[in-house]
Amino acid sequence: MTYIITEPCVDLKDGSCIDVCPVDCIYTTESDNMMFINPDECIDCAACEPVCPVAAIFVEEDVPADQQKYVPLNYDYFPGKDLDELREATRVAPRNLGE
Ligand code: SF4
Ligand code: SF4
Repeated sequence: MTYIITEPCVDLKDGSCIDVCPVDCIYTTESDNMMFINPDECIDCAACEPVCPVAAIFVEEDVPADQQKYVPLNYDYFPGKDLDELREATRVAPRNLGE
């Protein structure tokens, strides 16, 4: 199981979830239009879910039907990527794109 980020995050990326994740498993880069949760690192702690201002985060089994495409989007974001590079890219990526 993992948590999944869905459509309301797109073009917003306020970053509240990143600030509370205890294992730093939420990533993005400057060129991505949303954040992604690494299913291999997520410990299902649920800390991110209530802090998202737009309710974009769901535990995988509760992702709404109209948001199902975001399940593979989150999973497929990570294979082949260097997590150290991604961590640094996440640290410097702009946030609050909706402001
Ligand atoms: S459920 Fe916990 S570990 Fe998983 S992404 Fe959210 S804050 Fe991070
Ligand atoms: S808190 Fe919600 S909107 Fe903000 S980056 Fe995380 S998933 Fe996206």
